[in-house]
Amino acid sequence: MTDMYIQTDLSDLPDERGYFGEFGGRFVPETIIPALDELEAAYAEAMADPAFHRELSHLQRTYTGRPTPISYARRLSEALGGARIYLKREDLAHTGAHKINNALGQGLLAKRMGKRRIIAETGAGQHGVGTATAMALLGLECHVYMGTVDIRRQQPNVFRMKLLGAEVIPVTSGSRTLKDAINEAMRDWVTNVETTFYLLGSALGPHPYPKMVRDFQSVIGAEAREQIQTLTGQLPEACIACVGGGSNAIGLFHAFRDDENTELIGVEAGGRGIESSEHAARFADLDISRPGILHGTRSFVMQNEDGQIMKTHSVSAGLDYPSVGPEHAHLRQLERAYYTMATDEEALEAFQVLSKMEGIIPALESAHAVAEAIKRAPTMPRDSVLLVNLSGRGDKDLDTVIGLLDD
Ligand SMILES: *Cc1c(COP(=O)(O)O)cnc(C)c1O
Repeated sequence: MTDMYIQTDLSDLPDERGYFGEFGGRFVPETIIPALDELEAAYAEAMADPAFHRELSHLQRTYTGRPTPISYARRLSEALGGARIYLKREDLAHTGAHKINNALGQGLLAKRMGKRRIIAETGAGQHGVGTATAMALLGLECHVYMGTVDIRRQQPNVFRMKLLGAEVIPVTSGSRTLKDAINEAMRDWVTNVETTFYLLGSALGPHPYPKMVRDFQSVIGAEAREQIQTLTGQLPEACIACVGGGSNAIGLFHAFRDDENTELIGVEAGGRGIESSEHAARFADLDISRPGILHGTRSFVMQNEDGQIMKTHSVSAGLDYPSVGPEHAHLRQLERAYYTMATDEEALEAFQVLSKMEGIIPALESAHAVAEAIKRAPTMPRDSVLLVNLSGRGDKDLDTVIGLLDD
């Protein structure tokens, strides 16, 4: 494989204003625009510099453990009696999930821009841990905003971040969860924009973040596309990934975007079911989800008639977000990607099935993608291939699952 893992193609979306069709853009206070312009310019310059690619690629190999392998889920595939299921093992990346790919990329960029104060926000703590890890490695100062409700729910990750040298800043406004932490991080950025780099965790937010995060995660698909052909001699019939903000999914999908015979399938959190309204299925429940603006970008947003953001629910914290990356909204509109959902119950079932049959305990987020593979595989011929992105490992979810399987 080459050093140029990051795929940039000038003909790609977004356009120069940051739009993917009618989604994306920049909906931020005036005061942030110069910072976004500076970031965009620095990112473009870094992308054009082979030394930046070499440095990132070196860290990916020697620190993250890339390339991550692809595993054939033989027992599961044979039991289902249809398509062969292959797993892209982002759970084996350092820190146990794909988030490190983006944190390292943006961290290197911050360093290059001379910004030594890094801020981030986190919900479940996974992005906070990924960021704190990368900042410890790069020797940058790290401050992570986190709602107090999440701090209480995610003690081990709070401890990890502190151990890694980050400051965790409690957020007590609003629902005291992820969206409030994002608001606070944005406020900090406006105030300290000279010295501070805002490290955003998913393919969300104002331009250039959705593009930049996609590019840093596109290493997943670039590796996987090559690996699956080496292993099976063919391209997959479908790529499946869970969609929270959408970074692991877009990271996988990007390399396959021109492979017309490969279906791209995103799986959202169906929570307690669409009827319950307790979910985060932004593309499935069009009664309460429609185009709108949240956190600086235009995409599908779960909102009531007055535009108030709805409370969401998922058993997996990483999928529990009321909006979704703008590129996914666009891919859906183009019908290039298809979006479905898995309920909490289906994800929990898939969590246990993959553990028992393959010896892999998946993150509850990733279990949503596995659930879709379990539904689809039996309907497909035996010579077909399903490629599932296993975005993370499930150790972080054991407490949640123990609680749910008990009652
Ligand atoms: C954060 C997280 C997700 C959801 O984020 P995306 O940006 O949609 O990828 C999925 N899986 C794991 C393991 C995560 O930590």
